[in-house]
Amino acid sequence: MNRTLAGVAWVALYLLVVLVPMFLMLLPPLPSGRTFWLEFAVALGFVGLIQLAVQFVLIARFRPLTAPYGIDVILQYHRQIALVAVAVILVHPVIIIVDNPSRLELLNPFGGTIASRFGILAILALSTLVLTSVFRERLGFRYEAWRFTHLALGLITVAFAQAHVSLAGLYTNAPWKQAVWVVSAVMMLCLVVYLRVIRPWRQRRSPWQVSRVESLPGATVALTLEPQGHAGMRFAPGQFAWIKLANSPFTLEEHPFSFSSSAEDTGRLEFGIKGLGDFSARVGSIPAGTTAFIDGPHGAFSIDRYQAPGYVFIAGGVGITPIMSFLRTMADREDPRPVLLIYADTSLEEMSYREELVPLEKRLSLAIVDLPEKPPPDWEGEHGLVDADLLGRVLPEERFARDVFVCGPPPMMDAVQAALLARDVPRERIHLERFVLA
Ligand SMILES: Cc1cc2nc3c(=O)[nH]c(=O)nc-3n(C[C@H](O)[C@H](O)[C@H](O)COP(=O)(O)OP(=O)(O)OC[C@H]3O[C@@H](n4cnc5c(N)ncnc54)[C@H](O)[C@@H]3O)c2cc1C
Repeated sequence: MNRTLAGVAWVALYLLVVLVPMFLMLLPPLPSGRTFWLEFAVALGFVGLIQLAVQFVLIARFRPLTAPYGIDVILQYHRQIALVAVAVILVHPVIIIVDNPSRLELLNPFGGTIASRFGILAILALSTLVLTSVFRERLGFRYEAWRFTHLALGLITVAFAQAHVSLAGLYTNAPWKQAVWVVSAVMMLCLVVYLRVIRPWRQRRSPWQVSRVESLPGATVALTLEPQGHAGMRFAPGQFAWIKLANSPFTLEEHPFSFSSSAEDTGRLEFGIKGLGDFSARVGSIPAGTTAFIDGPHGAFSIDRYQAPGYVFIAGGVGITPIMSFLRTMADREDPRPVLLIYADTSLEEMSYREELVPLEKRLSLAIVDLPEKPPPDWEGEHGLVDADLLGRVLPEERFARDVFVCGPPPMMDAVQAALLARDVPRERIHLERFVLA
């Protein structure tokens, strides 16, 4: 209920922020002799511009904003709102021209007005930003390069759009109206400075050092970090952090990884990293002693948020890492609640944490179902994929009361969620962590 209220409050605040500047621009002094459709189109332009500005707030990783939902949900919102903003902004010139087709000349980059040229540039930058984001993987854009381009195009779009508004001058025909836009532009710049300069600057005071790099089965590496000259970090089991393995916290390369260690052990962080790309494949050869910086903790995928009488954990592949943190934390807390773990992977050999689970079975009320997709010939246990049939066989009777946490590759997550619902597990008891932010 609290989360619903918080959600309603955030949506109300969003609407307020997006609509108030438009109403301010509609206060006198106003240009005269304009049609309803022209006014409407201009209002849409203002709304779209403020929506773009709010995007910078959403990516700034402000904990009060991200904590109730998790940063993945906020980034999802960032993507969806971006599409609404783009639609609103593109409709703005269309209505202006339909209202009076002679205004088509405004789209001529060599004709029109200086204001209209800035408007065209803003739309071009925005379209490039959207297309490179939606088709990033198909375009073969490296993640880091994309992220840098994305931020740069965002700033360029907003700068051109601000210039368009100021130069058009019709609704910014009083110094206080100009000030509204100048202040909003400065605030956006401050947010970028906060994210890219002030946060890393603060991280300088809390460096970490790689203390151990251990190879695990399944092309996975257990990376252990220890604090250098500070007390470490408190996190909730299941959360994640952005890791920078570099001498400077100002490096642009940072990757999100779930903590796999116990949340009770704040003086040592462990991550399980599967070598799937250029950065993650390099982690195994990183020497002990390498400096690291951490931005975290982030995320809302945690047993600490749901005090159920017991849990079901479903892991696919490297999705086991936040679940290792759940189990290790519960063991350290001597938590007696029953847990069922379904651990799925392509084969038994690929299961990175099978060995590590053995001692935990003794310390916890833990039942484990190993689920190799391709089992060895003598395997008598369950095998295949997590589906409704398997869940029907292994879920405990009291599954309606238990909270279920699922983490694995994206196609598995959708299938498991559908299977859990088919087995009457209440939707609000299912919690998913997707290892995808972009
Ligand atoms: C919340 C969360 C928790 C995660 N926890 C783990 C974990 O515990 N263990 C694990 O092995 N993996 C985890 N991942 C996935 C891990 O972040 C990516 O596999 C890793 O960043 C890939 O980088 P790369 O350069 O090796 O691969 P690339 O081939 O460069 O990237 C593969 C894909 O990973 C994503 N990615 C790459 N870089 C970043 C980045 N800097 N930020 C966000 N996404 C990126 C992009 O979608 C990209 O297309 C997690 C991801 C998220 C979002």
